[in-house]
Amino acid sequence: MCDIADKAFEREEWERELALKNRKLPAPPSPVCRNGDCGEKSQPGTSYCSPECREDAERLARAERQRRVA
Ligand SMILES: [Zn+2]
Repeated sequence: MCDIADKAFEREEWERELALKNRKLPAPPSPVCRNGDCGEKSQPGTSYCSPECREDAERLARAERQRRVA
């Protein structure tokens, strides 16, 4: 008999599904560049008008996070 093992497995599966459902969806791409007050139209499927703007915004976000930790 391995009923208990089966039940544990089912429960794990269920918990994984629940976690997937509850996971926040990533924000949809912004039609306008998110880098500060850039205001340019984003490249299709992205939130930034150019790779430079994306790097800039990511650097800022990282600095912001580090500031909060320190
Ligand atoms: Zn931009």
